[in-house]
Amino acid sequence: KEYSKEEILQYAEANNVRYVRLQFTDLLGIVKNVEIPVDQLPKALNNRMMFDGSSIQGFVRIEESDMYLAPDLSTWLVFPWETPQGRVARLICDVYQPDGTPFPGDPRSVLKRVYARAQEMGFSAFNVGPEPEFFLFKLDEKGKPTQDLNDEGGYFDWAPVDLGENCRRDIVVTLENMGFEIEASHHEVAPGQHEIDFRYANAVEAADNIATFRLVVKTVARQHGLHATFMPKPLYGINGSGMHTHLSLFRDHQNAFYDPDDDMGLSETARFFLAGVLEHARGFTAICNPTVNSYKRLVPGYEAPSYIAWSGKNRSPLVRVPAARGQSTRLEVRSPDPSCNPYLAIASLLAAGLDGIERQLELPPPVNRNIYMMTESEKEEAGIRSLPANLSDALDALMRDEVLVEALGHHVLLHFIEAKRIEWNMFRTQVTEWEREQYLTLY
Ligand code: GLU
Ligand code: MG
Ligand code: MG
Repeated sequence: KEYSKEEILQYAEANNVRYVRLQFTDLLGIVKNVEIPVDQLPKALNNRMMFDGSSIQGFVRIEESDMYLAPDLSTWLVFPWETPQGRVARLICDVYQPDGTPFPGDPRSVLKRVYARAQEMGFSAFNVGPEPEFFLFKLDEKGKPTQDLNDEGGYFDWAPVDLGENCRRDIVVTLENMGFEIEASHHEVAPGQHEIDFRYANAVEAADNIATFRLVVKTVARQHGLHATFMPKPLYGINGSGMHTHLSLFRDHQNAFYDPDDDMGLSETARFFLAGVLEHARGFTAICNPTVNSYKRLVPGYEAPSYIAWSGKNRSPLVRVPAARGQSTRLEVRSPDPSCNPYLAIASLLAAGLDGIERQLELPPPVNRNIYMMTESEKEEAGIRSLPANLSDALDALMRDEVLVEALGHHVLLHFIEAKRIEWNMFRTQVTEWEREQYLTLY
């Protein structure tokens, strides 16, 4: 909803709002905020809030660190929880440079730029519906997360097995109070694992929603004495947490992926887009699966994809075409995980698909068999490549992908690669318990 500045000020006054959080996201997808007392709100609404960006991950060097926050008025929201000092609201902001141009390192502006290209190509919406999964762990007496899961439940289990149910329902109620339309929530396959699906939204709003969702899940879990984590693979030997992402392009309020005359009900636009997603899958993996830990999820045997293929039937490939048609025609990309920066992830998926449309890329045939049962030579014959096996390979693939390099822009790419190379090198030199168990006595 679009609010005017006056409406926001009135609303704040009428609802005992005492503080406002000006929210934005760093390069790694971590939500940052500056909190202002409500009497500073008029200044903030006039885009006059300056901050020092030099300590924000992936922002700028010391000598050019002044930046401005420009609140997006449609993101005005009062948090449903009370504090002793009154209520707290938030506004999601775009980051601007002192000269008034968008800051190129702001992930939200990267997504806006890619989305503007979709509009230039005649599309009126890029709808994104995420299915984030997460784990609930118990807290210890000092309030630190333990490795004890909150329950022993499994897929779609009921209470009392599903002890997370009350916490999950509370999360759902809180999100609904904040305007989210929740489509479903359930216990996931692994013990302590849950999924909450909310209604799709257009590109930027969808990314905003994912960022807000993660914040709310963590906050409410804590109120239940639990720690919620979006770490992709917190425990060895059980399923990890993914964030399946449903995508569709609209043209004049009509789903551009639907064609009733096609034998699969898919338009040419859908096929080109899908071909683009497959073409750039190795490139966008570093963005959609940005942690060392992400690659421990993308392995056979745990319902996560590791091969680049699509199917209308089978669930093992990277992209599935859900059965719904008409306005609900969509593609489900199954590799992203909830540790990603949602703005950059959606931007790179969109850039991949748009490139498929622009170059009219040919879609390879669907793979309706279980890829994990195919032999190496069968896979090679069918032209099935695999996703990068680790963060290092994924970074190499990203740097080689010119379409994604251009879409993300040099500032983002440079700082992202630099931060992630450090992360990889730190991980690579660790000596783990597993290694000592394997080698200490053997050699
Ligand atoms: N947890 C699975 C994953 O890692 C997804 C399970 C599902 O929802 O099908 O992607
Ligand atoms: Mg799931
Ligand atoms: Mg799914």
